[in-house]
Amino acid sequence: MSFVEINYLWDKYNQIEIPDHEDRTEAMDSRRPMGSYEDTVLYSTLMPCYLCAGAVVQFGIKKVIVGESRTFSGAKQFMVDHGVEVIDLDDPACIDLMQKFIAEEPELWNEDIGK
Ligand SMILES: [Zn+2]
Repeated sequence: MSFVEINYLWDKYNQIEIPDHEDRTEAMDSRRPMGSYEDTVLYSTLMPCYLCAGAVVQFGIKKVIVGESRTFSGAKQFMVDHGVEVIDLDDPACIDLMQKFIAEEPELWNEDIGK
């Protein structure tokens, strides 16, 4: 599961309309993220930010494999401190991909990264 997928699921989770009364409980149950994530390995091009790392910890994901953390150091220590195994591949292809994206979309990058 990638961060794009997590964001997609989160968006879907928040977009479900809640009908009135007796349908409410069932509909609210359907808003819950699906099942357990303890066996999930999360792959990401870039080191997760604190927001995404919070989701990792909150949903019990135990292993995160990232392409690189040079572009953005993210929240590795936060995840490690919460028992998550974090593997940083320091992959040149991921570094190149992120540098290309930042060069082409600086406003989007700065918005996403909170600057
Ligand atoms: Zn994030």
